[in-house]
Amino acid sequence: MDALATPAEMRAWRGARPGGLGLVPTMGALHEGHLSLVRRSLAENAATVASIFVNPAQFGPGEDFERYPRDGERDLRLLRELGVDAVYLPSPAAMYPDGYETWVTVDGLARRLEGASRPAHFRGVATVVTKLLNAVRPDRAYFGRKDAQQLRVVRRLARDLDLPVDVVACDTVREPDGLAMSSRNAYLSPPDRAAAPVLSRALAAAAARFAAGERSSDALRAAARATLEAEPRAAIDYVSLADSASLAEIAGEADGPALLSLAARFGPVRLIDNVELG
Ligand code: AMP
Repeated sequence: MDALATPAEMRAWRGARPGGLGLVPTMGALHEGHLSLVRRSLAENAATVASIFVNPAQFGPGEDFERYPRDGERDLRLLRELGVDAVYLPSPAAMYPDGYETWVTVDGLARRLEGASRPAHFRGVATVVTKLLNAVRPDRAYFGRKDAQQLRVVRRLARDLDLPVDVVACDTVREPDGLAMSSRNAYLSPPDRAAAPVLSRALAAAAARFAAGERSSDALRAAARATLEAEPRAAIDYVSLADSASLAEIAGEADGPALLSLAARFGPVRLIDNVELG
């Protein structure tokens, strides 16, 4: 497995390998969710690059950039064992050298949900993904449905900027108790870890109402919210039922494809989860 540290090294590596290439962008502290993306890329491409970059630009002031989990040795071992061809590990200085001042912003889509709670987050995501795609020039890039809004923002920027890449969506991988895998789960206290599966139960409660024929967006949001509110350790940030494409909040009936998503804090750890309805 090759290791590339700068955009120039990455471009040179890619230039020497013109075949089908998949990219799996990550922030490291790898878990089965990440590895499922890597396996899919390995199955669908002649070669696979995984990137590991904890992107300072997508963390707001007071968020967890400094204490975001980092375990480079273990990550490299897991990627090598899976058979990844190269890992791209740029430093913040390689990505954002002195004088850096160019940003990619996606408008309406990125202002809602996570964007409302974390104002500069998607500007950081859209910028780093554009830079990763430019350095790696993959045919396909793999993203998790766990970060449903991020997936939509990346699809939109690829479309709007005519980037020659297929954005591939991969299902959320969960713990046996339903909790969506996340690098941040490691920071849950034992009682918060025990409480956190309430997120997937809240989604399931609303999905069950939807399957039984309920289409009132208020009733569907209320079903999820009631489950969350029964767990005192969960501080709700939002419960949303939005149009699946635009992420505009649905008023009235949910009669097209919809995304039910939620964010809640368990102590210092903020978690998100979602399910597609319809
Ligand atoms: P991150 O390292 O958190 O930036 O995530 C890197 C990629 O892995 C993103 O495309 C995420 O959506 C995806 N991902 C994270 N957690 C999961 C999960 N539990 N299941 C599937 N994909 C995931």
